[in-house]
Amino acid sequence: MRRFADTAGERNWVVVIMPPNTKGTPHDSRHFDMSPLLVIISIALAALAAVLFRRRSRAQRLRQFADKPLEPELLNLLRQHMPLYERMPSELQQRLQGLVNVFLNDKSFFGSGGLEITDEMRLAVAGNACLLLLNRDGPCFPGSGTILLYPDTIVTQAVTYDGPIVSESLSARLGESWHRGPVILSWADVLRGVNNPEDGHNVVIHEFAHKLDEENVSMDGLPVLHEHVDYPDWARVMSEEFADLIKRVQRNRNTVLDGYGSTSPAEFFAVTSEVFFEKGKRMKDRLPMLYAQLEQYYGVDPAGWEKRRN
Ligand SMILES: [Zn+2]
Repeated sequence: MRRFADTAGERNWVVVIMPPNTKGTPHDSRHFDMSPLLVIISIALAALAAVLFRRRSRAQRLRQFADKPLEPELLNLLRQHMPLYERMPSELQQRLQGLVNVFLNDKSFFGSGGLEITDEMRLAVAGNACLLLLNRDGPCFPGSGTILLYPDTIVTQAVTYDGPIVSESLSARLGESWHRGPVILSWADVLRGVNNPEDGHNVVIHEFAHKLDEENVSMDGLPVLHEHVDYPDWARVMSEEFADLIKRVQRNRNTVLDGYGSTSPAEFFAVTSEVFFEKGKRMKDRLPMLYAQLEQYYGVDPAGWEKRRN
């Protein structure tokens, strides 16, 4: 151990080399006996503080974008690829612009299969995804920092096992939402969905609804609800409407919701979200209890937007 001492009568500092096992005197205030555990805890706390500081700085930086309107050329692209925007009340349009600003600065876009990412693609995805956040506080889809776009419908080989029998089949997907991972979208299907705002099919809304769903640990059709939304009420209405959709699909009855929503509670929530935003008035007329739950959850009334346009 090294210790500094002031020699009598002289003002020079000298270094005294002490044996390694020499204990410090009461005057030796620089002596520390840190156990390895203490060192590890100190390093861990410093690392945690650094992570929290980075997160806070990032959140502060992103908050600045939330108050800014979009650049005119970006707003034009949003309008071109988001007919729903024209129907929204002006205060929601302003809020959407801020959310899109945050989204574009927070998420990374990558093209696959030779697709080159353009502003048109970024705006179409960001605008429709941010519809889900219009009246929700909190971060912007924290479970996904990456959007991966394919040129067209994604065809993958699915393998299923039934005892000793192994079956292979081709599976076509418009998009995928990986738990705590990227959102994968077919650009051709994004365009089909967003350019027809009345058919109840919008793969961007669908996949990002899964992202909200996973905030409550797993994708199970139960997202984190606002304080004022009653969990038992939500569970009762969603269960009843899900059971009703299964029955209607089995009997080949007409449904407001796409039959794909009957495959699981998670798909039910994603499909109902698409219909809520694109066929709000029809849902409110035919499935008022379901509409009321989603209206409370999303904090907006798209059925009124349709009325406003007419
Ligand atoms: Zn899905």
